[in-house]
Amino acid sequence: MAERATVPAGALPRRGSRRVMVGGVAVGGGAASDTAPAPIVVQSMTNTDTADVFATAMQCAELARAGSEIVRVTVNTREAAAAVPQIRERLAAMNLDVPLVGDFHFNGHKLLAEVPACAEALAKLRINPGNVGKGARRDEQFAQIVDIACKHGKPVRIGVNWGSLDQTLLARIMDDNARRAVPKDARGIMHEAMVASALESAQRAEELGLPGDAIVLSCKMSGVQDLIAVYRDLAVRCDYPLHLGLTEAGMGSKGIVASTAAMAVLLQEGIGDTIRVSLTPEPNGARTKEVVVAQEILQTMGLRAFVPLVAACPGCGRTTSTTFQELAQDIQTYVRDRMPEWQLARVGVENMTLAVMGCVVNGPGESKHASLGISLPGNGEEPVAPVYADGERIATLRGDNIAAEFKNIIDDYVARRYAVRKAT
Ligand code: SF4
Repeated sequence: MAERATVPAGALPRRGSRRVMVGGVAVGGGAASDTAPAPIVVQSMTNTDTADVFATAMQCAELARAGSEIVRVTVNTREAAAAVPQIRERLAAMNLDVPLVGDFHFNGHKLLAEVPACAEALAKLRINPGNVGKGARRDEQFAQIVDIACKHGKPVRIGVNWGSLDQTLLARIMDDNARRAVPKDARGIMHEAMVASALESAQRAEELGLPGDAIVLSCKMSGVQDLIAVYRDLAVRCDYPLHLGLTEAGMGSKGIVASTAAMAVLLQEGIGDTIRVSLTPEPNGARTKEVVVAQEILQTMGLRAFVPLVAACPGCGRTTSTTFQELAQDIQTYVRDRMPEWQLARVGVENMTLAVMGCVVNGPGESKHASLGISLPGNGEEPVAPVYADGERIATLRGDNIAAEFKNIIDDYVARRYAVRKAT
């Protein structure tokens, strides 16, 4: 069968971190000789009011079904904290065990103390060291949350964000910098402060009793080069698993391109154990888009496979009708819709590759490289569409039913090529 190239050996030097269990999902690993790194995990976050149990449970379910392996929810009020166990129950009733992460800022210590069932229902707590409290209360409140995490046996993500960086720490680093013979510039200071905030908070959490293998770090920034610089530094200075994400990535193609540019560089260097694509949804757009994009980043890089991907040419003057674009979209949607069923029934379908091409110039060649490929006729070509399976021409389609016939060929190929999954 035709296979796409995967990551070249030796291209991923880091991916050796401690292993943290988030609910039933393994994150990181590889630092100790007995744990191979777990697959890079796809995360997402809800944008419903967490106090609205029904809406939040439904969105968690939607995200999980789209492929999100961990879902984070805001916990900002007592009502939200009280809703978390109910959301967990509703998900269980839907047969979904996706781990939930609680996102705490400012009042997390109070909410977790007042609603112990919230901590119990969560698989991980996220603390932002810049928002955990001010002045002397900062350390006290941080310690309270860590204490609760320890009591409930929950891991913690120490999530630094440059929009809410600890200002006391930043001032200290600026003072230290002023005394240097060659001071860093403002950007260098910001990078240093981000990394220091994460590492010092992790050290403090360990001193308070949180095990090192219950800590995940993140340092989110909105600039691509900033994110790359900070994570490279973080990766050489600690062995905690790292959650990657470009914060405030933006909307549409801007958010997708910026997130991909930043994370692809880091992932290629073996940096990153979980990822989230922080897309601003289009009005009424699906929240699940961020999950699809995260999966596609990992899959197109050859790091994981989730669903068969469709290669398609861009079209040109040889494809003046929309038939070819419609077929490419139709097939991508079809395989994504069929994947849950295939996944349950067959082993390895996610590795299948498809090609939908617009004419004879590159069509047959690209089709032969795919598991299954179809090459539509371009302008002036004979009105036939040759179909290739594993490099061999197996059919020639013509007429008005090409899409339906090609879908049948895909179904046949899956049934023929992929072994039946044994019941466990
Ligand atoms: S394969 Fe044909 S239709 Fe597609 S871009 Fe190339 S020349 Fe144009």
